Amino acid sequence: MNRRRFLAAASCAALWPTLRRATAAPLPFQPLRRGVGVFTSRGGTIGYLATNDALVVVDTQYPDTAEACWSGLRERTTRPLDLLVNTYHHGDHTGGNGVLQPHARQHVAHRNVPALQRQAAAQRGTDTEPTVPTLGYEETWEQDLGDETIRLRHYGPAHTGGDSVVHFVQADVVHMGDLVFNRMPPFVDGPGGASVRGWIDTLEQVHAAFSDETIFIFGHAGEGHAITGPRADLLAIRDFLDGLLAFAQAALDAGQTEDELARTQRLPDFPTYYRDSWPEAIPIALRVAYRELRGDP
Ligand SMILES: [Zn+2]
Repeated sequence: MNRRRFLAAASCAALWPTLRRATAAPLPFQPLRRGVGVFTSRGGTIGYLATNDALVVVDTQYPDTAEACWSGLRERTTRPLDLLVNTYHHGDHTGGNGVLQPHARQHVAHRNVPALQRQAAAQRGTDTEPTVPTLGYEETWEQDLGDETIRLRHYGPAHTGGDSVVHFVQADVVHMGDLVFNRMPPFVDGPGGASVRGWIDTLEQVHAAFSDETIFIFGHAGEGHAITGPRADLLAIRDFLDGLLAFAQAALDAGQTEDELARTQRLPDFPTYYRDSWPEAIPIALRVAYRELRGDP
């Protein structure tokens, strides 16, 4: 990773703690269906299943918010933590792993996640060993807990090289991790294994695999937009990513260099995908798209 990209990634990481909840819910816990719900505080949305015979946590935010989430869950069930899942490796989804993993009987993620966590820690210059999942899978992983089935699937490189789509089957709730930034600029993490085309393909496959009744949980949402929603929201970010590729392709066709392209901070057709606090988002994403289209490693 060159210095420019490192600084861009570092500024993104610095942004996450300041991301605020988009909805004005008075409590961080929002039940969705059949014991499945979301916890929002700082960082990527946490999903949970809390019943008398199952306790599952999906993503861990940061140590302090993971503690708050855990104490809230303890008020909902006395069940031990059957399963901890990370949807992928970024610190705003795994930073509280050290708090929750000691409680967990199992801790699972896509098998690329531990190496990506260590790579990201090295890029940040941290010498603390990250708390990594203890169980990895390649394409699918599933477990029955009480009257619920938790099914993980990796569709290939997309937002990163280690994304999981987590389906609570009977509740029909799906945690997308950061495969969906709902109406805000996404972090397209080239060094973390992102593929813009793969991401588009994943969103289309997931959209086709579920129904209009399915409730989706999103890693993040823009101001005034929700961190849960219907599958139609998957196509909104799909359209943005399509627009991103088309914009990069036009630059390539016009003979622009990557640095020239990366001066663009807003895509004209996608005004929602810009925020003043993080103007680097589109330049970072365009660089990844440009390299991908050019076939660069
Ligand atoms: Zn995130």
